[in-house]
Amino acid sequence: MTELISKVPEGPLELKWSKHKADIKVVSPANKRKMEIIVIGTGLGGASAAASLGELGYNVKVFCISDSPRRAHSIAAQGGINAAKNYQNDNDSIYRLFYDTIKGGDYRSREANVYRLAEVSNNIIDQCVAQGVPFARDYGGLLDNRSFGGAQVSRTFYARGQTGQQLLLGAYAALNRAVANGKVKSYPRHEMLDLVIINGEAKGIIARNLTNGKIERFGAHAVVLASGGYGNTYFLSTNAMNSNGSAAWQCYKKGAFFANPCFAQIHPTCIPIHGDQQSKLTLMSESLRNDGRIWVPKKLEDAKKLQEGKIKGSQIPEEDRDYYLERRYPAFGNLVPRDVASRAAKERCDAGYGVNNTGKAVFLDFKDAIKRLGKDVVDARYGNLFDMYKEITDVDPHDEPMMIYPAIHYTMGGLWVDYNLMTTIPGLYAIGEANFSDHGGNRLGASALMQGLADGYFILPYTIGDYLASKFKEPKTDTNAPEFEAAEKAVEEKIDRLMSIKGKKTVDAFHKELGHIMWEYVGMARNEAGLKKAIELIQNLKKEFWSNVYVAGETGVFNQELEKALRVADFLEIGELMARDALNRNESCGGHFREEMQTEEGETKRDDVNYMYVAAWEYKGDDKQPELHKEPLKFEFAHVATRNYKD
Ligand SMILES: Cc1cc2nc3c(=O)[nH]c(=O)nc-3n(C[C@H](O)[C@H](O)[C@H](O)COP(=O)(O)OP(=O)(O)OC[C@H]3O[C@@H](n4cnc5c(N)ncnc54)[C@H](O)[C@@H]3O)c2cc1C
Repeated sequence: MTELISKVPEGPLELKWSKHKADIKVVSPANKRKMEIIVIGTGLGGASAAASLGELGYNVKVFCISDSPRRAHSIAAQGGINAAKNYQNDNDSIYRLFYDTIKGGDYRSREANVYRLAEVSNNIIDQCVAQGVPFARDYGGLLDNRSFGGAQVSRTFYARGQTGQQLLLGAYAALNRAVANGKVKSYPRHEMLDLVIINGEAKGIIARNLTNGKIERFGAHAVVLASGGYGNTYFLSTNAMNSNGSAAWQCYKKGAFFANPCFAQIHPTCIPIHGDQQSKLTLMSESLRNDGRIWVPKKLEDAKKLQEGKIKGSQIPEEDRDYYLERRYPAFGNLVPRDVASRAAKERCDAGYGVNNTGKAVFLDFKDAIKRLGKDVVDARYGNLFDMYKEITDVDPHDEPMMIYPAIHYTMGGLWVDYNLMTTIPGLYAIGEANFSDHGGNRLGASALMQGLADGYFILPYTIGDYLASKFKEPKTDTNAPEFEAAEKAVEEKIDRLMSIKGKKTVDAFHKELGHIMWEYVGMARNEAGLKKAIELIQNLKKEFWSNVYVAGETGVFNQELEKALRVADFLEIGELMARDALNRNESCGGHFREEMQTEEGETKRDDVNYMYVAAWEYKGDDKQPELHKEPLKFEFAHVATRNYKD
């Protein structure tokens, strides 16, 4: 049985990373030149890793699905990136960022990793500024900050509502420099379809060239997975349409453990669903909660009139508004963490106070902010988000409050990694949203960009050397090896099987049905009976998929239906593992809310005695149950307590 060894170094928390860096091996420049690394993904995680590894002298091959590396999903990130610079002089520190992140994740993440994340956060800002990322600045020219959920300080650096785009342009420029230097070769429109393992170590991938349908082999001394999260298992989410969990799933099936799959984040401020034909949800950034106030009517009769379209939000007088987050959580108000804000919105809507025709929306109101700051200041902070909202809903948020509702946004779970970011397969690393590492049961806003860039710029480039230091004598991986032959054959057979079904139901129809099951039973509130039902329904849907799906087009050509079908086949399996993990975790923590485990006030109730562990699942075969491994979580430095955002 594979043992979970986290490789967290001994010693005081604040010295662990420095000590580790001093202890691990390095590869000499002459030997780096002989070695090859594959990086899957060009989001903030992948682009920063590939650029850094190329700059160090390794030979890197970087892959992405989109036509250009800079169109990775990271480009959609809006609100900002955290760092403990304490520019506001509001008593921020590395320890405070660490503590907020551990607490925000409801004490279900690894202490040492989170401290390291906070520690390198400041380097990220320096690196990005040096690359020319145009962060917002204050009147004196210093970098400006705003607040995000789960924090009482302002530590979020931003570039209007386009922070991800600007950060990715910085990383993309760094990547292109390495491409121009001949150290990185970029493979856009190439989708990894399997991991190749030789003698127990990750040695390459099988990829499909999406423009011509050809199956190709690529070898390396190590493989880095930066393929993003699996939020699209729910069909409707804020993620980019191409985001998927397949690369991580292929690695899981080859022996990498999948950790905490049930930890999915539901974001409180998304534009509500408006119809059956919708295939995408739009996020309204959390940054809006800095100045926007969330409310529903106090009176049910006002809510009813809103639902019937007889009145507008602006017509409800101040004294009849219930600013329920400010009422329930006075210490943090509208800036409570996402899981808390989402559940509170659901609670109000379930009680009948929803403000749109479906009853599933609450208001996010800028009336007071515009009065206090003026329209120009509000526009300077959120202009593009206001424009986006108006374009989608035809309502101007300067005049009427926005309507928002929670939606799937991010996945905290992912491939299990040790302190070096290596999975349970030697030579296979996972970074960014693809790993499980730093966010526990709930990620704080503006911390995903921080983690992706921390992993890619400042952690992996050091830790991968420790593994590669013993490999430099190995020749280049031979892609004619039988292991490549077998993996390629298995991929081709899977594709042929899918194409030959020629059933009656579209790929999208299956995905949508899976999404309904997931949202209903593995969504914002979960319970034992519902989770058991979800597992059964998903298993049946999977059977139907493999006997009745219709995949249009041909195999050896450009075929987006086939691309989707391969991903949906995996989503069906990921969904089942998520439900299984949620069923096993009979406690509520962070975004994982088991209805059986709540306080009298409807807050999450953790069970630290039985569930203070990372649940890491091992694949045992298609028709066998996965095996659960537990990595116990020890808190030596953070005081473990019930989360409190009230006082
Ligand atoms: C609308 C929105 C706004 C957000 N705003 C913020 C914010 O303000 N602050 C914050 O901290 N976080 C934010 N997030 C979260 C954050 O954007 C993501 O968690 C982060 O960008 C993920 O980066 P990544 O590099 O791990 O993966 P991604 O950016 O998802 O990139 C994945 C890469 O992998 C490639 N890929 C995937 N599968 C394969 C395969 N099989 N073969 C080859 N390539 C593959 C893709 O093409 C892509 O290049 C936001 C998320 C959304 C949806």
